[in-house]
Amino acid sequence: MPVCEMCGREGDILKAEVEGVELNVCFGCSKYGSVKKRGYASISRSFEKHSSKEEPSFQVVHNFASLLRSYRERNSMTQEDFAKFLNERESVVAKWESGSLKPRIDTARVLERKLNIRFVEMDTETKQVDTKKKVSHEFTLGDFIKVRKRE
Ligand SMILES: [Zn+2]
Repeated sequence: MPVCEMCGREGDILKAEVEGVELNVCFGCSKYGSVKKRGYASISRSFEKHSSKEEPSFQVVHNFASLLRSYRERNSMTQEDFAKFLNERESVVAKWESGSLKPRIDTARVLERKLNIRFVEMDTETKQVDTKKKVSHEFTLGDFIKVRKRE
């Protein structure tokens, strides 16, 4: 999982120039700088290419890693076999199972159909996440100022 260089939050990361320094930041922190590569207009809440304002937001289920691993174990497959079965690289499957990597929504949908397991859910925790985000950004901004003073 990529990590925001400003607040340490894991998730989708944007490249933004903050006070002349190029940083990999989350969407929340990107407002403190100017986003490179992607314009503000094209940024959606979840950063998924397929989501738009009309569509509800989707996310990969939180227990994706354990669902995937238990499916493989039930079917007595090695990670190598499983990777071949899923038509994915073994290293990717290993990361999925360890939870260090989550698939994109469209990839998760392909896996859903293949394994007949629900991997994508509606993002119903948006409110909760927003609250957390706010708190962490208050902390972050102070932190960032400290970093700047040191320079
Ligand atoms: Zn951040």
